Amino acid sequence: MKINQNYSNLCESYLFASIAKKTAEYKAKNPQKEIIKLGIGDVTLPLAPSVVAALQRASAEMGVKETFRGYGEYQGYDFLRNAIVGYYAEKGVSLEIDEVFVSEGAKSDVGNILDIFDKDNAVLIPDPVYPVYVDTNVMDGRKIIYLEASAKNGFLPPPDPSVEADIIYLCSPNNPTGAAYDAQGLRAWVDYANDRGAVILYDAAYECFISDKSLPSSIFEIDGAKNCAIEFCSFSKTAGFTGTRCGYTVVPKALIRDGASLNKLWLRRQSTKFNGVSYIVQRGAEAVFSKEGRGETAKNIAYYMDNARLIGDAVAKKGAYYTGGKNSPYVWFECFDKKESWEFFDYLLENYGIVGTPGAGFGEAGKNFFRLTAFNSRENTRKAVDRLLSK
Ligand code: PLP
Repeated sequence: MKINQNYSNLCESYLFASIAKKTAEYKAKNPQKEIIKLGIGDVTLPLAPSVVAALQRASAEMGVKETFRGYGEYQGYDFLRNAIVGYYAEKGVSLEIDEVFVSEGAKSDVGNILDIFDKDNAVLIPDPVYPVYVDTNVMDGRKIIYLEASAKNGFLPPPDPSVEADIIYLCSPNNPTGAAYDAQGLRAWVDYANDRGAVILYDAAYECFISDKSLPSSIFEIDGAKNCAIEFCSFSKTAGFTGTRCGYTVVPKALIRDGASLNKLWLRRQSTKFNGVSYIVQRGAEAVFSKEGRGETAKNIAYYMDNARLIGDAVAKKGAYYTGGKNSPYVWFECFDKKESWEFFDYLLENYGIVGTPGAGFGEAGKNFFRLTAFNSRENTRKAVDRLLSK
């Protein structure tokens, strides 16, 4: 018996554990001090009323013989996939219903998609980055090439024609940097991938936070993207589904590699290893696209975005370079006095009572940067901002 030795190459995942430990130690020493947590990447506002009503209706249906449902469709119920196709049509993107695969979230799809690719592919991953892209490839033993994002490229690195990559990860708006590609930036990536026969894995988990309507919210808004990209999306941040669990992945039929349809391969993979998302949750997700659901979720997003603006403005007033905050719930800024990010974590906690996330936790290129999130309450966000500006 042999285990997968690649697991021994994973870095210890100490980021959020270390943050919790350091915060608890500080609290124990300073019990009178109020700490404001702007480190969390989880939503805090409850589900929209129309989503809750849909979940309740669907639960009731499951308790009645005539409307009870057993196993559903592997790709998701038509009612939800049609709603997703309609959402893309509004962006000017025309999809066929069987290009859409409903899942229990973007994280598992982003990891599971690797099943359809050979281990002998070079993978290009921006740094800093959502750690799942790196860890899932380390688990498979793939070769990773890091692409440095920095203040020089506004944390939106362009392709480097001298780099040979087969699988490319892009996340826009980005976690952790909050930076979002414009159409020209994405076009460069689509051209690079098509020239080389590479595949772009495009994580659009934060697309609903794009407020600048000139920016693309799907890679499929770029001509040629259906020939080279797979897009991952989620109801987690859009509609507060982090605990309810639902997402979807778009695999265009035009995406052919090695003579095979990636849409067919993904369907084969999903129908073998996955039995679908619960009917109840899919009805809840469908309600996100209803007129009421849209209005209610837009209000929640606007609430977070007002928090993000407050944080971004405060950081700018402190004279720090930052990205994000405008089309993203994340504000990513250079640590004051160019401190190292863990040192800055202590500094921010001790001097302002604010907890954030050190950039080093997202990659080498983040080591002098810091992430604050807009998911706390308005009251706490205001308090944190006032503290930052007070000295
Ligand atoms: N992709 C990115 C970039 C994320 O930041 C997250 C969650 O924080 C996810 C995917 C996970 O989404 P889900 O909750 O749908 O699994």
